[in-house]
Parts: sequence; structure tokens; C-alpha cells
Amino acid sequence: MSDWKDEQVLIVGGGIGGLAAALALARQGIASQVIEQAAEFKEIGAGIQLGPNVFWMFDILGVIEPVSALAVFPDNLIMMDSITAEEVTRIPLGAAFRRKFHHPYALIHRADLHNVLLDACRKSNRIRLDAAQKVFAVDERGSGVAVKTESGKDYRGAALIGADGLRSTIRDIVVGDGKPKPAGHIAYRAVLPTAEMPEQWRWRDMVLWAGEKVHLVHYPLRTGELFNLVAVFHSNRYEEGWDSYGDVAELHERFAATCAPVRALLNKIESWRMWVLCDRPPVKNWSKGRITLLGDAAHPMLQYLAQGACMSIEDAVCLAAKAAAANGDYASAFRAYNAARYLRTGRVQIMARVYGEFYHACGVAKELRNMMLSSRTPDDAMAGMEWLYGEQKELTQSASPRARQSADVVGGNG
Ligand SMILES: Cc1cc2nc3c(=O)[nH]c(=O)nc-3n(C[C@H](O)[C@H](O)[C@H](O)COP(=O)(O)OP(=O)(O)OC[C@H]3O[C@@H](n4cnc5c(N)ncnc54)[C@H](O)[C@@H]3O)c2cc1C
Repeated sequence: MSDWKDEQVLIVGGGIGGLAAALALARQGIASQVIEQAAEFKEIGAGIQLGPNVFWMFDILGVIEPVSALAVFPDNLIMMDSITAEEVTRIPLGAAFRRKFHHPYALIHRADLHNVLLDACRKSNRIRLDAAQKVFAVDERGSGVAVKTESGKDYRGAALIGADGLRSTIRDIVVGDGKPKPAGHIAYRAVLPTAEMPEQWRWRDMVLWAGEKVHLVHYPLRTGELFNLVAVFHSNRYEEGWDSYGDVAELHERFAATCAPVRALLNKIESWRMWVLCDRPPVKNWSKGRITLLGDAAHPMLQYLAQGACMSIEDAVCLAAKAAAANGDYASAFRAYNAARYLRTGRVQIMARVYGEFYHACGVAKELRNMMLSSRTPDDAMAGMEWLYGEQKELTQSASPRARQSADVVGGNG
């Protein structure tokens, strides 16, 4: 192994993106140090959807099997009209979908996905993981980068990846565009034991009840033990907020016009966790010298395409391949990574906003949506998803052969 790969890369943030980056670098034989502010490496208790595009990345990272063992593979993506209770459209996720996109669509508990990545990181002798360290200062020096944490620790590395999420400290240094933009949409999330889910809605599907300025999503998790519920509504009452308790009275008021099944499902939950949804307009340059960004720090997006975590994992694989190809010239690797990613992630940021409008449409726009979607065949629907779910050849072909070769180097130290 060459010396430059032993000089660690610093990764600020040990969420899904940061851990995927550490793992992807290790698969290329590159050492890293992950620095996480929380007391332990942990994800919040809610579900996440995984498009087939991210399974190509899981393959490269060597985690397809553990992810698949914990995931639910739904039968359909279904949109219902939350006023009339009629089905608008469905996309079957069976054999034709898998043939077209080579991989399945999956639903997983976020903590399970995070744990799979964490376990893989812990098995690598190329990755060091420190929790309870909040980075507040960064200093880029000629041949490396140094960071300081609030508890007084210093770290030094050959380069720095800011995987520190929506309210990234590292983004302030690299892009400096202030706070993220609240969408005026609020998400309430809850997880319900399957026994408490009304029997007629225990579908093995990802179901979205599209309403007027509201929508409700439900799907099974943990091999069917749990159901994930996400209720979203328009409200300008909040500017900031993350994982705090939601106001149940406001939720019921916003969903008052929805059909009986939607209201019955909402009534099943007594306490919801609330998120104020934010994004940013896409930017073109999130790298500066030996410092770059990844995941929500680089391109935060609304969740309407269910791709934020998937994009962060794609970023990780791309970044590691570019780092390996540049032989330790991180400034040029980060430029190449940024150039390879910004149009794809920018498209997802923009299209996520469009889908949000679609899900929450009122009046004529809603009628038009229902007409357009209900006349679509599954083949039409899949053709429309090709750009998102199809193989990203630039990514898979540049990452796979090297990753597989150097997988042997990772070896694992238990
Ligand atoms: C309601 C909702 C539903 C969603 N559904 C989906 C979905 O179905 N599919 C999907 O792919 N995506 C989904 N997403 C998006 C997804 O959750 C995010 O895009 C993803 O978690 C981003 O990962 P990340 O690692 O970039 O950031 P985060 O998960 O935010 O991780 C950042 C980490 O950095 C740490 N950190 C922050 N600052 C510092 C610091 N100064 N020093 C040290 N550590 C620091 C944090 O503690 C955190 O652990 C959804 C999002 C929401 C809000």
C-alpha cells in the first residue's frame, strides 16, 4: 500500500453519509477518521426508502447482504387520493421493475441501515471512529487540514470531508451561503407496531395519500414488525426544529378535509416527532482545496423523492473513486468528484420540490395530476424513473474494479 493512503482523511459527521464515505475510502485502501458530535453513533427511529440506484452502491461497499436481510421489499408504490380515498396510480415493484433497474426498491429502519454501515466501518482497520466530538474550527494548511473540537481535541488529516448534515459547519467555510431554506412544510413521523395498524391497511406497499397541502405516507418496516408513518402539511408556524414533539392539534386541523381512512390512521398515533423541512437551491461548487462536502451538507433536498440518504451514499462511492484515481492529490480529486455529482444531485433537489407540489396539489392542478398519473402504464412510470433509478455507469464502472481489488486490503480487524 502506498504512503498517501495511510495519511487519514478527516470526516466530520457520522451519519449515513459520513459512514458511507469512510467505508468507500476504506474499500479503496484509504484511511479515515470519522468525528461525530453526538455522544454515540446512532440514527433516529424512523423508516427510509431505498431506490434501486443505491443498491449498486451497496454492492460496491460490500453491504448488499446485511442491508437486504433487514429490509422490506414492497410489492408496489401506490398513490391514493386522500380526499376521495380512490387509488390514483400504482407502480408494481416485482420482476419487471427488478429486470429494468437490476436491483429492488426497499424500505428499511434508518437505525438498521446506519448499523450496517457502522458494523462494516468497525470491521475495517482503515477507519477510526470518535463520538462526542463537535468540530467548530477548521484550518487548511499547505499539505493537510486540521480541525478542533469543542472538547479541546485536535485532529489532522490529508483532507477533510464535511458530512455534517443540513446545518453543516463545514459548509459555512466552503460555500458560506447561510442557513438552509425552510420549505414551509412540516413532517410528523411515527413508528407503529404492526398489531396496532388497522388490518385493512397492513399492505406490503409504500402508500402515499396525496391531499391538498398535506400527504400521508405509510409502509412496513423490520420484516413487517412495524409500520412507518409520515404526515406532511404546509405550515409557516415554524422556522427551525428537528426531532422535537409535534403539535397533534395542528396536525388534525391540517388533515381535517381528508377521508376517513387517513384520519383513522392519524388517530392511531399519540405522539409524533416533528421536522421542519428545509433544502437549499443547488450550487455548483462545494469543494475548496482539500475540503469538500457530502450528502445533506452539500445538497440538502426535500424528501419527496426519498433520495437524500441514497444521494449521500452515491457521493461517498464517487468521492472515494476520485480520491483513489488522483493518487493523493485531494484538491484535484475533490474537484473531479464535485464536477461528477452536482448536476445529478441538483436535479434531485429541484425535482424533489416539483414532486412536493405534485403531492400537495389543489384544484385543477390536482385533477390534472390524477388524470396524468392514472392514465400511465407501469412501463411509462418506469421510463420516467430511468434517470434516477437506472445504473449510473460513470459511478459503477469507475468504482467497482478498484474497490473489489482493494477490498482485500480492508481485511478487517474485528
Ligand atoms: C422526513 C424525511 C424523510 C426522509 N426520507 C428519506 C428516504 O426515504 N430516503 C432517503 O434516501 N432519504 C430520506 N431522507 C433524507 C435523509 O434523511 C438525509 O438526506 C440523510 O440522512 C443525510 O445524511 P447525511 O449523513 O448527509 O446527514 P445527517 O444524517 O444529518 O448526518 C450528519 C451527522 O453529522 C453530525 N454533525 C453535525 N455537525 C457536526 C459537527 N460540527 N461536528 C461533528 N459532527 C457533526 C450530526 O450529529 C450527524 O450525525 C428523509 C429526510 C426527512 C427529513
